[in-house]
Amino acid sequence: MLTISAIKADVGGVGGHTKPSESMMEVSREKLAEAVERGMLLDFDVTHTGDDVCLLMTHRAGTDDPEIHDFAWEVFEEATRVAQDEGLYGAGQDLLADAPSGNVRGAGPGAAEIEFDETAEERSAEPFMIFTSDKSGPGAFNFPMYAVFTSPMYCAGLMLPKMKEGFTFRVIDMEYAGGDRVIELDTPEEHLDLAMLLRDENRFGIKSIHHRKWPEQQVVSISTDRLHTIAGEYKGKDDPVAIVRTQNIFPAPEEILSPYTTAHYVAGDARGSHHMPLMPISINSAVAGPYCLPLVSAVAYSVNDEGELSERVDIFGNEVWDETRRKAQQKADEIRRQGFVGPAMLPMQELEYSSFRDTLERLEGQFQRVDGAKPERAAVSGGMDEVD
Ligand code: MG
Ligand code: MG
Repeated sequence: MLTISAIKADVGGVGGHTKPSESMMEVSREKLAEAVERGMLLDFDVTHTGDDVCLLMTHRAGTDDPEIHDFAWEVFEEATRVAQDEGLYGAGQDLLADAPSGNVRGAGPGAAEIEFDETAEERSAEPFMIFTSDKSGPGAFNFPMYAVFTSPMYCAGLMLPKMKEGFTFRVIDMEYAGGDRVIELDTPEEHLDLAMLLRDENRFGIKSIHHRKWPEQQVVSISTDRLHTIAGEYKGKDDPVAIVRTQNIFPAPEEILSPYTTAHYVAGDARGSHHMPLMPISINSAVAGPYCLPLVSAVAYSVNDEGELSERVDIFGNEVWDETRRKAQQKADEIRRQGFVGPAMLPMQELEYSSFRDTLERLEGQFQRVDGAKPERAAVSGGMDEVD
């Protein structure tokens, strides 16, 4: 069995939330190269999207392996030390716990991992893609993944015998504090139930997608996490990372990419408080736009049976995405023109997790009943039912 792990964190940026420094990237690469030498990893790549560093690792330890997760944490700690020495902004920002208990999940970094049988007959080669987002909410992949894996309007390949049986989606309730609360829904039959949940991208996010004909074949893993609740207080948006295996029994890269031409609106942006379009950008780009447009990079790789990675293809770096970038900027300009009003900013219950909360609480206390009756506390949240 082979495992692909993509673990991503923001541990400091040059001149604000722009990009990690070259020396942070270099120290991360050195640590991963050492791990290959001592046999812990088979291969690796280190990239950044905006200010998030992504460690791509192949190994045979399986998903959620404590050694791999502790190692990724150490790499981020090392990069944090460099960021501190250089006086960078937000050094160690995503390292929320003192030390993780063998798993970075819940401690700040995002982790997407897939284990698969590299000798399986139905997969004669192993092409895959890594999507890394920055300045975007945890449900940023809800729309594109739903579109590709449920709709022939985006992925005509779904009509082929190899995919017609559909896919199983695992969705996580990100508002639930007590542990991972998930639901599994099978498409095509349950695609409308799935849509009912995924429309609320602040609460429900896709964690994984499996093939139904070959249930052991996982096609998608997303780092979707309960960031609001794990941090105790709000620390920044989740900036999810996704692994998507492609071709053959799975959708082709061109199908998986098709929804990204929408530049769909996601939660995120400056201080994680706005709705803005997701702009596809070249890997290893800095954030430099007005506000911080939510960004996504896509990188395609192949991996052989020994876990060795090919060179990478920078998908969104290609000029064919220039039109989408222009559209994203225009959509951003349009919604930003209405400032903070209405759908331009996140709903109240999301802002409650941020530093807006104190002001909201103070104002809450200043409300008066005009008829002189005993004041009642008005609901500032959007009336979401309490979960157990
Ligand atoms: Mg940042
Ligand atoms: Mg970031």
